[in-house]
Amino acid sequence: IRVTFTPVHRRGHGGTGTIIVLQDVTEQEELEASRREFVANVSHELRTPLTTIKSYAEALDDGAIEDPELGGRFVGVIQNETERMIRLVTDLLHLSRLDSSEAPLRKQLTPIIDVLEEVADRFSFQMQQKHMSIAVIVERGVPEVPMDRDQIDQLLDNLVSNALKYSNEGGSVTLAASLVEKGVAISVEDTGIGIPKKDIERIFERFYRVEKGRARSMGGTGLGLSIAREIVKAHGGDIELESEFGKGTRVTFILPLVQEERGYS
Ligand code: ADP
Repeated sequence: IRVTFTPVHRRGHGGTGTIIVLQDVTEQEELEASRREFVANVSHELRTPLTTIKSYAEALDDGAIEDPELGGRFVGVIQNETERMIRLVTDLLHLSRLDSSEAPLRKQLTPIIDVLEEVADRFSFQMQQKHMSIAVIVERGVPEVPMDRDQIDQLLDNLVSNALKYSNEGGSVTLAASLVEKGVAISVEDTGIGIPKKDIERIFERFYRVEKGRARSMGGTGLGLSIAREIVKAHGGDIELESEFGKGTRVTFILPLVQEERGYS
């Protein structure tokens, strides 16, 4: 709330007074503050890999390049950091497209079983390498869902790659779909490391990570879940995350079956 006091003197009437204006500026300021925070975060996230790349390039230049083992390792670091920056910029572009809605969704009725089985196939190699299993369970009678297939694939890739990243060897991932009141509920559940209670509330925020250092070393950009949320919102649905620290995590999103009316045009 912004409060403005304006003193008023009314000569000849013998009195003075004050006009008090109360203005609700919370929303505006919150938006501005979150924008500033976002820019600061982006700058920081880009600066970190750049600083690393710079120092490793300097070390190579200073002679590390002559040592085949050390040289190879340093080049590897530079490659990793570059790839992370590319992922980050790709994620940022994706978010900004979703924000500006300049790329409207191309929704088509799609059988959910196909979508889930394909995502399970895409990850099967990485799962095997970690001795993990992945299962798909689709309730009988789940109808086809209107969705932008590319976006939903991206969203599921983000969720499954988290389930994989934040699980220990031998864990399992379950992809499930069922019919609920508001549409079709799709969930990605893992038996991984889980998320502490205090972090769950903020987990969908851009760049929010549970343990900054660890998450970054896993190669994450901190944008996966916020992109997931934007994609679900663009479909008119909801997303939520439940987790028990040390036990596992389940992310569930609902895609509505009824297309939203877009007014007359
Ligand atoms: P990141 O790119 O760091 O994985 P995300 O936005 O996808 O970013 O996730 C935000 C944070 O939430 C992660 O850094 C991680 O700490 C936590 N997280 C997300 N998914 C899971 C999961 N399935 N199990 C445990 N922690 C998770």
